[in-house]
Amino acid sequence: MAESFYRFSVGTFDCTCLTDGEKDFPLAEIFSNAPAEEVRLRLREWGFRDDVVVTPFTYLHVDIGGRKILMDVGAGRLFPSTGKLLSSMAVEGIEPAAIDLVILTHAHPDHVGGMLLDDGSPAFPKASYVISKREWEYWHSDSERDRARAAQRWFFDFARDHLDPVRERTHLVELGQNEMVLFRGVGVWSAPGHTPGHLVVELSSGEESLLYIGDAVILPMHLEEPSWHPVYDIDVAARRTCACRRGLLCRRRLSP
Ligand SMILES: [Zn+2]
Repeated sequence: MAESFYRFSVGTFDCTCLTDGEKDFPLAEIFSNAPAEEVRLRLREWGFRDDVVVTPFTYLHVDIGGRKILMDVGAGRLFPSTGKLLSSMAVEGIEPAAIDLVILTHAHPDHVGGMLLDDGSPAFPKASYVISKREWEYWHSDSERDRARAAQRWFFDFARDHLDPVRERTHLVELGQNEMVLFRGVGVWSAPGHTPGHLVVELSSGEESLLYIGDAVILPMHLEEPSWHPVYDIDVAARRTCACRRGLLCRRRLSP
């Protein structure tokens, strides 16, 4: 897939979706507990391929009156087909050095893999970073790493390798039940489940708002069938509770 982007606005905010690439995943990884035939049927209904889940890695850039924010930093060289975020930004004329703030929804490899250049220096050299304190602590916990399935322990090492180099410029936000406003028009909410410290970002400008949900919901079928979840969800019970309590799935506007 070539570099590409899609632009839209939320009130006066200028938003650009940026691709980092895409990858095909087995149905059983994205719908770990769903009947395969039902999944295939739903995929066809939505116009998707029904033999694999074609997964685009898409991130969001927001320009708020010259303040430039990036939501997640892409997968980097995690897969041969990823690592296109910087070239997608270049197509749009977005300079990595102009990014003021990076908000990380969570620290899975496809959301922090683009943090560093090949020489180990930060890809966004002037940015500050926001991640939830819970998320940071989870991936830095040796006991959680020991408790994880052996096949997923490298997730912990990957997160540490990509987060630690920017630790001094990272703000760990402690999220309770309510929105934390980072600055006017940009708030973050706790949305645990996919990962323990997953957060979502609400943009509000004038009468319009947008919820950037990271991996809280991956595909529309996960909205239609909230009990279906990918194998990557760490705390399925928390995900269900969170989704119901916080209005993520009924999509009401979170702010009054
Ligand atoms: Zn994830």
